[in-house]
Amino acid sequence: MNMKGVLTLVATPIGNMGDLSPRAVEAFRAADLIVCEDTRHSGRLLAHHGISKPLSALFMGKERSRTESALKQLQDGKNVVLITDAGTPAIQDPGFLLVRGAVQAGILVTAVPGPCAAVMALTISGLPTDRFLFEGFLPPKEGARRRRIETWKAFDCTVVIYESLYKLKRTLADIEAVLGDVRIVVGRELTKKFEEVLRGRVSEIRKVFEAREPQGEFVLVIDPTPKS
Ligand code: SAM
Repeated sequence: MNMKGVLTLVATPIGNMGDLSPRAVEAFRAADLIVCEDTRHSGRLLAHHGISKPLSALFMGKERSRTESALKQLQDGKNVVLITDAGTPAIQDPGFLLVRGAVQAGILVTAVPGPCAAVMALTISGLPTDRFLFEGFLPPKEGARRRRIETWKAFDCTVVIYESLYKLKRTLADIEAVLGDVRIVVGRELTKKFEEVLRGRVSEIRKVFEAREPQGEFVLVIDPTPKS
């Protein structure tokens, strides 16, 4: 008989609280321990649903040691839920180390799927969805960033990246410099009150953000082939 616990990754809203699924709430209720990024942030989400559970923070600096302790709990038969501040765990968020450790230890890993900013932006972009490359955040240094963008030419598929409001204009300029005036879709504040989707050539999108400063959270969906 397997006395080990189950690790469940639970996707949480990327802005609209209505996107938390009933199965996610069930998983919270069934958990012995909830591993999260920020205990205060996740504590508020649980409190909103009248749930009180032990929380453990799995933030980047302590991910290795906290992973070990979560694995120990799973080995001891505890059911562990993993959530991050927003969206799908392990997608440009902590989680990979815990999942890999659980898989290696023969622990059952499952998920309650749900919101993911990259998937939402891709699917509403109007750019091809049959093949895509997810890059997360680009390297912070300009040389490395431009070299990374250069590699997209060889992929010949839609590219999805995350970007912060502080670096958006700089990244748009790099994309135009390396790839030319390619087609791009910018998803801003997805699922939130001021959700916005901008579609056009990168030069046109750059003009938009020359006229007004970027605000909020952004996903960029790019067709890296200038011919299309
Ligand atoms: N795990 C998350 C997911 O599944 O989408 C992503 C976490 S990553 C640390 C956070 C980045 O995702 C933000 O900086 C932004 O680029 C993007 N993002 C998250 N929520 C968003 C939203 N509502 N609208 C647009 N972009 C969003």
